[in-house]
Amino acid sequence: MYLKSLTLKGFKSFASATTLNFEPGITCVVGPNGSGKSNVVDALSWVMGEQGAKSLRGGKMEDVIFAGTSGRAPLGRAEVILTIDNTDGALPIDYAEVTISRTMFRNGGSDYEINGNKARLLDVQELLSDSGIGREMHVIVGQGQLDSILQATPEMRRGFIEEAAGVLKHRKRKEKALRKLEATETNVNRLNDLVAEVR
Ligand code: ATP
Repeated sequence: MYLKSLTLKGFKSFASATTLNFEPGITCVVGPNGSGKSNVVDALSWVMGEQGAKSLRGGKMEDVIFAGTSGRAPLGRAEVILTIDNTDGALPIDYAEVTISRTMFRNGGSDYEINGNKARLLDVQELLSDSGIGREMHVIVGQGQLDSILQATPEMRRGFIEEAAGVLKHRKRKEKALRKLEATETNVNRLNDLVAEVR
């Protein structure tokens, strides 16, 4: 498995559609200060489901949409498309090539697609979590992040290890199941009240 390409459309400084093609092995992105190197990395974590504006170096989520320059009007949507080579089957999906896309409009909300089919954030997270990539998998090491790991509390360090061991997916499923259980309990209580009233 390796990242094959990344397309940015209206994402941060990339107003026009821009595709970066990668080869297996090491890729270096070089360029002058402020030319958009970190924006490429932001696009990668965004398409994999990043939810924190701060992690994307913005104040709010809409800050990822091209905000305009003196010569170009702002855009109303941002889109990032990531293509992953899956010939080794590392991702639990029956395709040799997997495309994940995320689109966001100024009025908020994100649409995800996996191989052209509408998907939920959870689907994207689950698809990526077994492979060791994806949100909170620490495959993207930002500036200053090494320091924060070295200075982490034992609980935080345990969190990092749990993520690396693939526990995160099951923790998320457990949380979802507990929320459902809670909602069901509320419904049962309401039903009992109604039954008591009817009697
Ligand atoms: P450095 O080498 O200094 O870290 P860099 O190449 O990593 O720089 P980035 O931080 O990726 O550069 O890009 C910063 C540029 O992106 C700035 O010029 C900023 O104005 C622009 N930018 C960020 N968000 C947007 C946006 N929403 N719309 C338009 N431009 C944006």
